[in-house]
Formats: sequence, structure tokens, C-alpha cells
Amino acid sequence: MTQKTPHLTERPPIVVIMGHIDHGKSTLLDYIRKSNVVASEAGGITQHLSAYEVTHKGPDGVEKRITFLDTPGHEAFKGMRARGARVADIAVLVVSAEDGVKAQTLEAHKSIKAAGIPFIVAINKIDKPNANVELTKQTLAESEIYVEGYGGDIPWVPISAKAGTGVSELLDVMLLVAELAELKGDREKPAEGVIIESNMDPKKGITATLVITDGTLQRGMFAVAEAAIAPIRMMENFLGKPIPEATFSSPIRLTGWSSIPAVGAIVSSFENKKLAEEAMSEAKKNPVRENSNEELGKDTVLIPIILKTDVAGTLEAIEHELAKLTHERVKLKIIQKGVGSISESDVKLAAGANNPLIIGFHTKADGPAIELASRNEIQIHYFDIIYKLSEWLETIINERAPHIEMMETTGEVRVLRFFSQQKERQVIGGRVEKGKIMNGEKFKIMRRDAEIGEGKVVELQQQKIKSAEVQEGAECGMMVESKFTIAERDLLVPFTIVKKQ
Ligand code: GDP
Repeated sequence: MTQKTPHLTERPPIVVIMGHIDHGKSTLLDYIRKSNVVASEAGGITQHLSAYEVTHKGPDGVEKRITFLDTPGHEAFKGMRARGARVADIAVLVVSAEDGVKAQTLEAHKSIKAAGIPFIVAINKIDKPNANVELTKQTLAESEIYVEGYGGDIPWVPISAKAGTGVSELLDVMLLVAELAELKGDREKPAEGVIIESNMDPKKGITATLVITDGTLQRGMFAVAEAAIAPIRMMENFLGKPIPEATFSSPIRLTGWSSIPAVGAIVSSFENKKLAEEAMSEAKKNPVRENSNEELGKDTVLIPIILKTDVAGTLEAIEHELAKLTHERVKLKIIQKGVGSISESDVKLAAGANNPLIIGFHTKADGPAIELASRNEIQIHYFDIIYKLSEWLETIINERAPHIEMMETTGEVRVLRFFSQQKERQVIGGRVEKGKIMNGEKFKIMRRDAEIGEGKVVELQQQKIKSAEVQEGAECGMMVESKFTIAERDLLVPFTIVKKQ
């Protein structure tokens, strides 16, 4: 294949399903996989890739392809964005009709907006007795997600992912949105894609799943993903069938990589090994740095995890569990994962990371790994029950979560008299209009609704008797310290600083 003028043709959409935990993402993905993968092939599924393809007959009677990313939620999506990779063309935001908008719904919406892709709202669980579609639309609108017929133009479909109600309509809408987005690809050029999963298969070697975003990949070519290269020899479609060629929007599995390509890495392909290697050495001059800190706020802690399991299915299950462990100021990040025992290279990686966790699930560390770990005083943690692992991780998350200081106001005091001032010390009188004020407390000084400064109570009196605190409704006399001269009618808002996890 040589580079020619582009031959753009319609390209099937690549869809990502997002939304709050338990709102039904997996159920929807399972339902679509079961009902739309061609029946004769469905029985032949030998593997569970993190993407799959279906065909769906739209309202115009034409069969079209749709690719689904079958990755747990938005973590993978975020990872890709951190590397600048764009893989999904359309997002489906699943919202439970029982619960309405939740924290992760908003997070997902933020990611979708940042990616700049169109999306569809799927209001799920409409079969449940407590489902309330109208209320769900209202909570969406309150979060500035305005669906069609409710102040906006975001398409929405009521569904039951469990029973399958509305799923066909949802697929129709996906095809419609894809048509409007005018997705195009060029079959004639060498393929480009994005790695969505990679692992070390003890029998086959290093294997990666990628979604082709443009062009065609043929046997005999070479694929490059950052520092990893693979000959196109063992290429399988998502059903595990060997294929000689694949084109845009298809997920494929490629075996024989020189090293484990990172999830989110952009893949390019070349006619021969020489061209591929040239591109790699060029790329080495500008290494891609995964800027994971970019997405972290300054109060956020990253916990690197090295995870080994006995079989690939368990690895996936644990990753799914980890995705559920969310904390505002802590981010778990799997920096290495794989099947087999914990090896020396895992421990080496841990030694170079910042306070990482090495976890073996149904697997142990080999001799050299144990030795290296004990020399470096690195602990290896073993588990064989998923919920125990989750519980343990939750405690680690809470231990490592940075404490944040919050200002909690305790009351409001209106200043009625100003008696005297000596340098910063001022004697005033007031009435507690709300809550209480305590001796030693700091306060904000509000003048006509604007904060003008702060001060501190150094002595507090109620009816001329020293008091530790004065409650709502009572008058009080105070000696305070402040750089700002307090005036009658000012409002003092006493507060305490509390540390929160
Ligand atoms: P995820 O965390 O978003 O992937 O949510 P799951 O797909 O795991 O669903 C969470 C729970 O809700 C599971 O017990 C599902 O069986 C259930 N569920 C999902 N969709 C529906 C639905 O449409 N109707 C009902 N009744 N239950 C559903």
C-alpha cells in the first residue's frame, strides 16, 4: 500500500458507555453483545476482549457496524485522554431512572465534554417500580444536561438494559448520531489505532488489543506503539478468529509485541520492518510522557499498583473492582499488570515508583522477586478473595488520603457597640444572632455582605461574667484582636478549622 490521495468512506462509530457505578453500564454492554453479535459467531466467542463489534439494522433497513469499548467506565477513557489518544466517537451516558444524576454521572459528563464528542443519554432501569423518567430528566437539567424535550437537544432513550427494552432504539440513535458526525476513514492507508488493553500471555507472549481508528492493517505489515513493535502475523478479530486484514473501527488482538505497549498508546503501522523501526527511532527523540499528574489536583495522591493474577479473567475482574474504589483525593493507578507470578522486574518497577503496592492475587512471588523485595524492604501483598482486597485497599486509600482543612462556621454575631481600641485590641459588644461564639475562636468580619478581614476572640463575657461561649439570642461583650477596626453593624462570623479525610 502506498500513500495516495485520501479515499474517504463512511466509518462505523466507536462507542463508549459511561455513567455512575451500578447504573447498568455492564448490563447494557452484555445485552448488546449477546443480542447483536451474529448468532453463529456468538457461540464461537473464545475470548473476552475489551471491545467488540456488532451489526444493527437501522430504521432505514440497512445493516451497519458499531464498535463498543467494553472497558470498565471512564478510567480507561481518562487514561487515553491523558495520552492525547482519541478513540471513542460517541458516548452513551447511562443514568439510572431510580437514582438520577450521581457524582460519577457528572464526572463522566465532564470527560465527554472535554473529549468534545457527541453523546446520548440512556435512562436505564425503567422496568423498576421506583423508576421515574421525568424526575431523572429533571435531575439531568439541574446538572445542566438538557435532553430533548427538556430544554435541550441531547438525544435520550428510555431503556431497560436488563430486559432489553429500548436497546434497539438506542442503537438506532447511535447510528443517527454517527451519521450526523460524518465519521470518515480511508481504507487505503496504513492503519492507525489505539491500544486499549495489553498483557503478557504465558503461552503466546505479549498480546495487545487495539481499535483501528483509520486505515487498514494487513498481514506482513508492522505495528508500532511508542517503544513496542509487532509484526502483523498473529492477528485475530474480537471473536478470536485469525484474520489476514482489518480496517477502521474494528477491535483486533495482535500478538508478538517486543514489549508491553501502554494502554492509550497510539498505534501506527508500516509496510515493512525497516520503515517501522525508523519511525520508532524518530519517536524515541520525542518520548511520550504519560502525564498522569496533569489530571491530579494538588491535593490528590496517586497510589501506583503492580498487579499479578493467576488468570486473565481475574485480572479483569479486579480491575473492574478497583475502578469502583473512588475517592475525591486519591487515585489508584495500575502501572503494571499481568498474569503469572510476581517477578524480579515487577519488584524493580516498584522500587522506582512512589510508594507503590505490589499485589499478588491467587499467585505468589518467585524466588528472585522475594529476595529483591526484602533487600529493598518492599512489601508484597497476597490476596485470594476480591472483597478482602477491596477492603484492604479502602483502608490504604483512607490512610493515604490527604487531610484537608475545612472552615466550619459556628454562628453569627452582630456588633452593637464599639467601646475602645488599643492597637489591635478592641472591646466591643454584640448579639449572637445565630449559633454560638466561643472564646479563642477566630471570626470573619463582614461589612454589608463583603468580607473585610479576620479577627480572634481573646476574651468573652456574658452579663459581665467571663464565659467560654455565648449562645444564640444572648448579648455578649468581647475583647478581640484584629488588624481591622470593627464598626457597629458589622457581622462577625466565628469559625473553627476542622481536618477532614
Ligand atoms: P455498572 O456498574 O454501571 O456496570 O452496573 P451493572 O451493569 O453492573 O448493573 C448494576 C446492577 O443493576 C446489576 O445488579 C444489574 O443487574 C442491575 N441492572 C442494570 N440494568 C438494569 C435494568 O435495566 N433493570 C433492572 N431491574 N436492573 C438493572
